[in-house]
Amino acid sequence: MRMYDIIGKKRDRNILSEEEINFFIHEYTKGAIPDYQASALLMAIFLNGMNEKETAQLTNAMAKSGDTVDLSPIEGIKVDKHSTGGVGDKTTLVLGPIVAACGVPVAKMSGRGLGHTGGTIDKLESIPGFKTGLRIDDFIQNVRDVGICVAGQTGNLAPADKKLYALRDVTATINNISLIASSIMSKKIASGADSIVLDVKTGSGAFMKTLEDSVRLAQEMVKIGENTGRKTVAYVTEMDIPLGAGIGNSLEVIEAIDTLKGMGPEDLQEVSFTLAAKMLNLAGKGNDEECMGLVKEAVKSGKALDKLREMVIRQSGDPEVINDYSIFGEALYFNEVKSNFEGYISHLNTEQIGKVSVVLGAGRETKESPINMTAGIKLLKKTGEWVNKDDVLGVLYTDNSDALTEAKRLFYSSFSFQKEPVDIKPLILAFIDANSVNFF
Ligand code: URA
Repeated sequence: MRMYDIIGKKRDRNILSEEEINFFIHEYTKGAIPDYQASALLMAIFLNGMNEKETAQLTNAMAKSGDTVDLSPIEGIKVDKHSTGGVGDKTTLVLGPIVAACGVPVAKMSGRGLGHTGGTIDKLESIPGFKTGLRIDDFIQNVRDVGICVAGQTGNLAPADKKLYALRDVTATINNISLIASSIMSKKIASGADSIVLDVKTGSGAFMKTLEDSVRLAQEMVKIGENTGRKTVAYVTEMDIPLGAGIGNSLEVIEAIDTLKGMGPEDLQEVSFTLAAKMLNLAGKGNDEECMGLVKEAVKSGKALDKLREMVIRQSGDPEVINDYSIFGEALYFNEVKSNFEGYISHLNTEQIGKVSVVLGAGRETKESPINMTAGIKLLKKTGEWVNKDDVLGVLYTDNSDALTEAKRLFYSSFSFQKEPVDIKPLILAFIDANSVNFF
């Protein structure tokens, strides 16, 4: 079998066989296929698509490309959560400690930033000392002792996805339903949870821009999860507007801590609490309403914040960051961007805002780029809000003064204005399970 022929087959819109998919994943993982051939195949898949069967086969091949985690030494129902990626999406940092504080173990393997979206692992590493690269037995022991551990894809978990994910990030091949579904579900299958709650983002800041595509992605992932014996459900949630105000690694951790203190932005709270309640529901803690009550109580009582502190200590981070945000450090430069317009904000190009955060240094331009933990954006005005001329729309933070002019221009051009009031969509748009799609 030759990689050249597999690329040609997909370029010509043909269906790949299971043997061809397995060959590609196996040989690429062991380094026998170069990145340029893998990139060509990814682009052919991106342009010509994969059917349901090919997507399921790609998922299985990636899930089996390395170790699988056995979570059985951890007592209780293990519920995982995964977001398809957004701008300012720090829900894992909020819901993980909440769910663990309610007695449901959280064994969460997360990713790094991808394209214009941030990643939980990069965010957590903004906490001085915090370790995300753990051995599987330490990961499991942490969950047994603390109730929660959030780590990077340990060791050899779905290594094919790890390599392909980084390659897709720099070859403009991210937003394709089959590639996203197989990437996410291969990790979820390999990481051993009993049940999975998916947060499929939709809108200008998501990989899927339309509700229709987002629901299709959700259905595809739910089907893959259920076919491998995991109870899997998905919410489609709004990503036409960044979630919360902080975009960038330490800025997002600070906002998540504020939310656990009961002082977070309403949108972040609503999405995080809804997902947390569903995780508790799948773990058998009650119906949706009862579980939402548990979530709110965990925050009100301070137990969720205590759980975060315990997790930070256990993963060698400095827990003082929870009381003193100055420990995160500060970017060398900051700049306020003001409005030239008076009126309502009619739309935000949220993907472009995510790209601004990358330009400022919060994300990666290439696979090897370092990231700047304090770089990012504080978004002070959002879609639907009225602004006066000279109101500050946002503050940009960076260590790279050369990036500021371009970042300011891009940031300002992400805003559209109008004179008339704007209709705002609900944050939670749909719920998908094995049997149905319910729109809200
Ligand atoms: N998150 C993932 O893990 N993979 C993707 O392809 C997109 C988002």
